[in-house]
Amino acid sequence: MMHARLLTGEDFPAPVSKVVCVGRNYAEHAKELNNPVPTTPILFIKPNSSLTRLEDGVALPEGQNVHYEAELAVLVGRKLKNASEDEAKSAVAGLGLALDLTLREVQSQLKEKGLPWEIAKAFDGACPLSSFQPVDNPDLEDLEYRLSINQELRQHGVTAQMLTPIARLLAYTSNIFTLEPGDVVLTGTPAGVGQLHAGDQLELDASFGVKVSAKVR
Ligand code: ZN
Repeated sequence: MMHARLLTGEDFPAPVSKVVCVGRNYAEHAKELNNPVPTTPILFIKPNSSLTRLEDGVALPEGQNVHYEAELAVLVGRKLKNASEDEAKSAVAGLGLALDLTLREVQSQLKEKGLPWEIAKAFDGACPLSSFQPVDNPDLEDLEYRLSINQELRQHGVTAQMLTPIARLLAYTSNIFTLEPGDVVLTGTPAGVGQLHAGDQLELDASFGVKVSAKVR
């Protein structure tokens, strides 16, 4: 079972029992895929088997149209169940970045049929994760990050623009899925998603001190 890694080089003591992801948490991204803006968060889960280390590069599954979604990743440090927003905020142990890799054509077909997205979102390697900046009660509403591909800016996430801010998202999630220490929550992608190609050079850079270069192969 993979553990989240801290920027200090140490692994978080508990493994990632699950990654909880939210769909359509930025209005501009919902619009670019012609999706309605949801009134409550759309949650789905990526299993530990989908995790890889972003620093090691991104391996594309063969013969598939794979989209990147660059997302801010929250490392949960304490168990959260039916948590308040304050409890959720103080349980954040680290901030990182992740790619929510998506087989977009497969997902579109599943959506048309009203079926779950799992095979488009939870396959092996679908969740490259950066190392995490350790934090203590951070200001979660004043964070930003960027993704550039081949030196062209593609995505710029600003947490103040989230439809469901991080503390509320964690509290809401904890009403449905108990968050265990070591779990990770992906907080949604801003506009600018697109296809990855072998040879692409990714640069991710966050205001909270996480910076990663990753090659696509
Ligand atoms: Zn996503």
